[in-house]
Amino acid sequence: MPIQWGPLALAVAIPVGSGFGISLLSMSGLKNWFPYIRKPSWEPPPWFFGPCWSFLYTLMGVASYLVWEAGTPLSATAFKLYGTQLIFNLAWQPLFFVANNMGISQIDNLAALGFAAATALAFREINRTAGLLMAPYVAFLVFANALNFSVARLNPGGRPPRESAATEDLTHPQDMKNPGQDGYQPATQASLAASRRPVSHRAPAAAVFLALKQVFDTPSRTYDTNVGEVYDDWTDEGVLEYFWGEHIHLGYYSREEQQKAWKQPIWTGRHPKDFKQAKFDFIDEMLAWSQSDQPATVLDVGCGIGGTTRHLAAKFPDAKVTGITLSPQQVARGTSLAAERGLSNASFQVMDAQAMTFADNSFDLVWACESGEHMPDKQKYIQEMERVLKPGGRIVIACWCQREETAERPLTASDKSKLKFLYDEWAHPFFVSYQQFARLLQDTKKMASVDTADWTPQTLPTWRQSIWVGVWDPWIVIFKGPKVWYRTMREIVTIERMHRAFAQGLMQYGMIRGTKAGGPAGGGAMHATRDARAPTTV
Ligand code: SAH
Repeated sequence: MPIQWGPLALAVAIPVGSGFGISLLSMSGLKNWFPYIRKPSWEPPPWFFGPCWSFLYTLMGVASYLVWEAGTPLSATAFKLYGTQLIFNLAWQPLFFVANNMGISQIDNLAALGFAAATALAFREINRTAGLLMAPYVAFLVFANALNFSVARLNPGGRPPRESAATEDLTHPQDMKNPGQDGYQPATQASLAASRRPVSHRAPAAAVFLALKQVFDTPSRTYDTNVGEVYDDWTDEGVLEYFWGEHIHLGYYSREEQQKAWKQPIWTGRHPKDFKQAKFDFIDEMLAWSQSDQPATVLDVGCGIGGTTRHLAAKFPDAKVTGITLSPQQVARGTSLAAERGLSNASFQVMDAQAMTFADNSFDLVWACESGEHMPDKQKYIQEMERVLKPGGRIVIACWCQREETAERPLTASDKSKLKFLYDEWAHPFFVSYQQFARLLQDTKKMASVDTADWTPQTLPTWRQSIWVGVWDPWIVIFKGPKVWYRTMREIVTIERMHRAFAQGLMQYGMIRGTKAGGPAGGGAMHATRDARAPTTV
């Protein structure tokens, strides 16, 4: 078969380029730390490593090209192993040279060796030459592990040794004079140690850390009437659907499942149950809580890609279930999934929830799951949903809410800054409390009953579980390339911040339900008495 030069060049460029890039990042440690630590006598000279790694990365790249070209069913698995060993390989340099963490770098090095050996075996199954090309690399990793181990033993804690005879001329600060020059002062151990410390690896590492912190602290998708586009992007990218399934809302965990989550060791991912199943359970719990009985017409306000719309359409085959969203991509995806499942009673439209085109009194059940967060006019959102609800119909709302601000417990500056990030990163204009949603509903004066609940404990495990499902199955992200890697890092940071805000009580998972007055069971509009206005927690 003729050589395909483009793919071959790319295959070689991936390990060689990333290895070179990482070595530039680790340069400070290579220059300012590594020369001064103790090394075993059998350590090769410093000039040896650059050419050696370039050679090994080239062999590895050629091997990966041969496996790609073979394109057997095993190739996908082989590439997963290949990607994993490369990540461990690349992570080693910053762990060792920049963080100077001997223990973690050793663990990383062993993982690189294990995955490299597995890759070599998988490659050999596919193409003998590819397996052979990996062999020198695996052998060198054995040597590198021995070297890492020996250096770690000679330099406990990873710091430069205090009494290093070899350091004097190397650490001689530039403004010091050499012997024989005017103003020469012999360096003491103390002055050498002092001159060594500040210029070493710490300053660049701190600068990189601060720069990264700045990038991750600056929200990237501030609300600006862009909700539709943000969801279009997420839908096109596919990563959200891959991990979260067809439901873009939190899962439901019973009391036992919540406890189970915390009892498991952290490295198991604390999976109290299947992540996607938790979302179906949420809908079933929300439906039960809504107390809606056999609705004939259902409106799903802010339907995402329609997971709930289809679930309700399947549950109530005689009902007509309509989903609305601002994202045309979500409508397209929702419609095609409904067709795939043969659900002719589920349909989707692009429509703004704050200005719906449906007639008054159209739906038996109005369902709003995690869409209120995005509404700039929460009052209009509530009024519109009440308007299209039939008399006697049920409304049920699930929403991420911020805690109620009271005179006794005002939001602090730190609370406000945390909330600001949570608003801005995922295109939220602002949040309100669930008590506020209940008041807005009661203020329509058309409701026979309204009450609320806080489902924070039932939904909290979702956040961290969503990070762990990605850790166990990172392939979709890995194969999507740097843009998605960056975006995924941002999502992880935001998810963790959400978890903390909910765990600390700054955010609450609000549930609001109500019956519109004037239904067959009778019941006039409720009066906004003091008692009725105070929401109950069920
Ligand atoms: N309820 C869905 C998805 C929640 S994600 C689920 O359970 O999977 C939030 C959804 O609200 C997105 O589909 C977004 O397009 C929609 N949304 C946000 N603002 C909206 C608005 N003003 N009008 C209609 N839909 C809106």
